[in-house]
Amino acid sequence: MNEDTSRLLGLAGLAVTRVEDGPDGPVVYLVTADDQARRCPHCGTRARRSKGWRVTRPRDLAVGGRHPRLVWRKHRWRCDESGCPRKSFTETVAQVPARKRLTLRLRTSAGAAIADGGRTIVQSARDHHVSWPVAAAAFATHAAAVLPAQPDPVQVLGIDEIRRGRPKWVWDETTGTWQTTVDRWHVGFVDLSGGQGLLGQVEGRNAAVVCDWLAERTQAWRDAVRFVAIDMCTIFKSAVRQALPGAVLVADHFHIVQLANQTVTEIRRRVTVQVRGRRGRKGNREWELRNRLTRNASRMHGDHVADLEGELKDLPPRIGTPILAAWNAKEDLLDLLALARTHPNRGSAIPVLPPMRPIRPARAGTTRHHGRNLVARNPGIHPHRHHQRRLRRHQPGHQNRRPRRLRLPQPRQPAITHPLRHHSPSQGAPQPPLTS
Ligand SMILES: [Zn+2]
Repeated sequence: MNEDTSRLLGLAGLAVTRVEDGPDGPVVYLVTADDQARRCPHCGTRARRSKGWRVTRPRDLAVGGRHPRLVWRKHRWRCDESGCPRKSFTETVAQVPARKRLTLRLRTSAGAAIADGGRTIVQSARDHHVSWPVAAAAFATHAAAVLPAQPDPVQVLGIDEIRRGRPKWVWDETTGTWQTTVDRWHVGFVDLSGGQGLLGQVEGRNAAVVCDWLAERTQAWRDAVRFVAIDMCTIFKSAVRQALPGAVLVADHFHIVQLANQTVTEIRRRVTVQVRGRRGRKGNREWELRNRLTRNASRMHGDHVADLEGELKDLPPRIGTPILAAWNAKEDLLDLLALARTHPNRGSAIPVLPPMRPIRPARAGTTRHHGRNLVARNPGIHPHRHHQRRLRRHQPGHQNRRPRRLRLPQPRQPAITHPLRHHSPSQGAPQPPLTS
């Protein structure tokens, strides 16, 4: 027995007998040095009769940059206490619990590296020579010990959806349909006013999961929530109305701005299709300005904003005017939202907005006046998706400039949908288009 080496290894209850050089690093031979390990885990009686030896190889932390291989030779004992159901047991110490192949400190370190060290699960698993599920479970154990059972009261609660991972389905024999077992959408609950950050994340994206999570909180916690910020999603709206009837619903600025930018883009695409008869492309100024149109003007240089407005006015009026109107409306909205946290009232907010002009009703049979249809979809033209070729086979032959080469299916890509030809096609016959 080597006391100095045992002290260096630092596994309480285990003593090093010798260390050898193995092919992948040092091999450390251990014996039990804890008399408590000899006591029956069920009745606590000290065992007297051995039932033989067992050898386990628990994995441990690196020592000096090398991962030692531990070989622990330990007794299997008989419990002689009459009436004890445990007939026999092997020795265990606190650092190597029963039936575990990893030392406790290895698990703790793998979890702490993720929770406190900011490492990803993959990186922590690599560093500690464990698998991804082991590192993830260690993180969950670490987090559960640190996190309180119930979050502290929250004044402003944020609810939003989060896309995570890939969905999984199973075939349900009884109904004859595919059922989701793993939803790719989760719902996250965030403390927006305090410093608690993410409060919880539940799988699924329906009102029931939101209500269930809120129902797990105490009534006092639910009563303390004064505002709930959501996107403009009716699922969350109905769930919050049901579970937190006293809270004020607030639409998050991010989602309002996103919607305004989507509207600007939608109008730009629509007028391009109406006037030019096709989608925008290089050479169409409104298409080239598409990214600048959705940028916040207050973060742009003043000259660039003036340039943008000038370029929109130089475009044909049927294209430039609606886009400029939508862009102005979007910028007015941003100016209004910028008043947040300044405690505005109606008197201070109104000067921000330009005077509203009454919208003239669109004349029947014309598409020149866009006033009423600025936001709503114009039923006179096809929905946008019909102007896109969803499949490559919809592409006219003369535009198909892809090389006629054999394309091997890539991982996670569907196989090609037509059989491969093993003979060269005759000269006159049309080539089937490559679809994958
Ligand atoms: Zn016993």
